[in-house]
Amino acid sequence: MSRKQIVILGGGTGGTITANRLRRRFDADEAEIHVVDRDDRHLYQPGLLFVPFGLASLDEIVRPRRRQLRNGVLFHQAEVAWVELDHQEVVLLDGDVLRYDVLVVASGVRLQPEETDGLAGPGWNERVFTFYDAEGADRLRTALEHFDGGRLVVNLVDMPIKCPVAPLEFAFLADWHLRERGIRERTELIYATPLDSAFTKPTCAAHLTFLLDEKRIELVPEFSAGEVDGTTGRLTSFDGRSLDFDLLVTVPLHGGAAFVERSPGLGDALGFIPTDKATLQAAAAPNVFAIGDATDVPTSKAGSVAHFEADVLTENVVHYFAGDELASRFDGHANCFIETGFHKALLIDFNYEIEPLPGHFPTAVGLPLLRESRLNHLGKLAFQWAYWHALLPGREIPGIGPAMPTRGKEIPVHA
Ligand SMILES: Cc1cc2nc3c(=O)[nH]c(=O)nc-3n(C[C@H](O)[C@H](O)[C@H](O)COP(=O)(O)OP(=O)(O)OC[C@H]3O[C@@H](n4cnc5c(N)ncnc54)[C@H](O)[C@@H]3O)c2cc1C
Repeated sequence: MSRKQIVILGGGTGGTITANRLRRRFDADEAEIHVVDRDDRHLYQPGLLFVPFGLASLDEIVRPRRRQLRNGVLFHQAEVAWVELDHQEVVLLDGDVLRYDVLVVASGVRLQPEETDGLAGPGWNERVFTFYDAEGADRLRTALEHFDGGRLVVNLVDMPIKCPVAPLEFAFLADWHLRERGIRERTELIYATPLDSAFTKPTCAAHLTFLLDEKRIELVPEFSAGEVDGTTGRLTSFDGRSLDFDLLVTVPLHGGAAFVERSPGLGDALGFIPTDKATLQAAAAPNVFAIGDATDVPTSKAGSVAHFEADVLTENVVHYFAGDELASRFDGHANCFIETGFHKALLIDFNYEIEPLPGHFPTAVGLPLLRESRLNHLGKLAFQWAYWHALLPGREIPGIGPAMPTRGKEIPVHA
């Protein structure tokens, strides 16, 4: 029997975990596993939050991609040009063609600052910054070092974005940082969001709004950013409201990878992959699966989600090859630490059906949920070690499975 060809597009969080899990699941004579990524720099993206405040450096959060892949996984450093679903082939920009029996799309999101008028124009990386990529986070660090007070506006242009809590965390850490430097009193901190409250999840939004108030960060809801003037320092919404700024920290519009648009039948209008939210099989074809930020499944775009999905996806690839029903189901499980400054953090845990609830994670004696604590902050810091040494290698983590745990949560009983 010939070896199955599995091709994974993207060697970030989801692609790497999936490749390593599949490698553990299939012997080398059963399947050949290929991972394609445009570069050999695996970035621990949660670390980007800390870079602007000098609490982490790029050197600490970047490692070679190849080295995160198990022996026997074949790494191709190349740009994906397009996918030919009819021929079961991936065409690379360098001219190579990879044939597949199963394709896994793990290509994440693409930041699109050029989609907002003026955002990437004059002032970009001078008084308008994003910490959502490595270069931006590093430049923002220099800008913050020189910031001496004024109006600092944090804005997310539109949903969906990866790690929807990260801009809030930035605002909380900025408050802390400016206090430490003694310039908080002469800084106005503004958080402008297109949402009608601080966050997408109502139970959690109440806690986060309280924290914004407590830290005197002004919340500007329903602010849909339409135009940026980086020369005069003005952010204008589609409905004509303006916010003046000395420093704008933006999370630009997100879309799917560019090759998705060049691959007929693969993606939707935004470049995301229509994906069965339970089986993670793509609508494009039965032998195409998708994971992580690249999908359109209705949960957060987060590394934790990619991690939980990788379990389900791996099992379903096994089922697919065996000709069985795709029996493994993803429940939308997501969890996220939310840094709130002063060495504290909140933790939230939820799925498609259940909102973030109070209690503890993963059991009744675990980390406190929806409550600021030092323990959660330590958990967030320790997570980087777990990322490189347990998550990416595809190891089982005792007590933490893909499904959202209910033990420890205060689940309301409805009559
Ligand atoms: C500031 C910040 C803070 C965050 N904090 C958290 C957090 O605390 N907790 C959490 O769970 N998540 C967090 N996240 C989100 C998390 O990092 C992502 O959700 C996660 O990395 C998604 O994994 P992925 O595999 O889908 O995409 P990625 O890890 O982004 O990987 C996609 C890969 O595809 C490659 N690619 C795309 N197009 C092509 C192409 N045409 N050719 C070749 N290669 C291509 C890219 O180079 C990339 O390596 C944070 C993100 C940011 C930006």
